[in-house]
Amino acid sequence: MTRTPSPTAGFSTRAIHFGYDPAEHQGALVPPIHTSAIYAFPDVGYGARCFTGEERGYFYTRIANPTLALLEGRLATLEEGAAAVVFGSGMGAVTATLWSLLEPGDEVLADLTLYGCTFAFLHHGLARFGVAVRHVDMTDSARVAAALTERTRVLYLESPANPNMRLVDIAAVSALARPRGVRVVVDNTYCTPYLQQPLVLGADVSLHSMTKYLGGHGDLTAGAAVFADAELAQRVRLYGLKDMTGAVMSAHDAHLVMRGLKTLALRMDRHCQNAQQVAELIAAHPATAAVHYPGLPGFAQHALAQRQMRQMGGMIAFELRGGLQAGVRFMDALRLVTRAVSLGDAETLAQHPASMTHSTYTPEERAAHGISEGLVRLSVGLEDIGDLLADIGQALDLAHAMDLSAGLSPDRVAAATPSCSAPA
Ligand SMILES: *Cc1c(COP(=O)(O)O)cnc(C)c1O
Repeated sequence: MTRTPSPTAGFSTRAIHFGYDPAEHQGALVPPIHTSAIYAFPDVGYGARCFTGEERGYFYTRIANPTLALLEGRLATLEEGAAAVVFGSGMGAVTATLWSLLEPGDEVLADLTLYGCTFAFLHHGLARFGVAVRHVDMTDSARVAAALTERTRVLYLESPANPNMRLVDIAAVSALARPRGVRVVVDNTYCTPYLQQPLVLGADVSLHSMTKYLGGHGDLTAGAAVFADAELAQRVRLYGLKDMTGAVMSAHDAHLVMRGLKTLALRMDRHCQNAQQVAELIAAHPATAAVHYPGLPGFAQHALAQRQMRQMGGMIAFELRGGLQAGVRFMDALRLVTRAVSLGDAETLAQHPASMTHSTYTPEERAAHGISEGLVRLSVGLEDIGDLLADIGQALDLAHAMDLSAGLSPDRVAAATPSCSAPA
């Protein structure tokens, strides 16, 4: 007998209850944290069968652990996937998955804009081991169709992309790739399964940095990969996780992520509401040259966002008319908003991708990949909206006033400031 809700129960019901029955754990409301790294075999034959895979019992936490398995089950149901594997970081999920899918001579086709360390792994990691890495602007599906070759094994993308918010039509590119046996891997960190479900749209793998929204409180590092195909999940577990990366997640952190999942829907609703109002404030301010937020009617891919995402998310990217200097002035003028990398926390965070999260690109690579030097990235948190608007408003006013006093003509500066909504 189990009280586990059915897969058709609502999102939050599954996020709170799935896979766990207190009656099986002395009535404990909160699932116990299994800290044991090792599990005893009843006899040698059973142990041997665990190693061949005939038995699916627990024996060593790098391969499987009951607390991690509970979290994996919850992530799989929330993404409507067949199985999930969790990792010690988002980069653990990215690297274990790609090590498992690619061999020397294969090619990975990646979107133009990627999180900095993913870009570094592709170019400074996989490329050194004989995997060809090619980028194509996936905002245009026709370019993806033209770029696929016999060697292409993986299509890799983020939507919205970190940091410039470009979207990819996941259903359209999946429909092109999957009939050719090309695996579609989507980094869904910005959306979480509450806002977007890549597997339902046709992708093979949905990746997460759980350090961000899924944990939600900035107090852990973890990652996940959710798969449409359980056999592929098992391959990534027994090769990418067990042998190639060893990027095991701690059971204590899995407990914290499950705590975070209980409030994911509530938090995401608030992140989205707050971000919409902050984006509107920035868009209306005379200091602003460009703002990239899917919920603004002027956003280039607004229609795709409404089709593909349930709500428009908590992330904003923008550029000021005074370019990089004005962006730095804006960030240094913030009092409530914290200057920090990462995202998805209760605290609103501001950072400068070119000198921080995307400094793994050379300046030339940033220009070619649509990441302009003056771009500011905001992760809008859960604070009261009036306080956020007041702080961001005063920082915009200050950056603008300093531009004017420096004698910069806003229109001339705007003309010289590249906009990342038109990537090279
Ligand atoms: C942070 C992030 C990662 C890496 O995750 P870590 O948990 O920091 O290893 C990967 N992809 C995206 C989009 C991210 O924002």
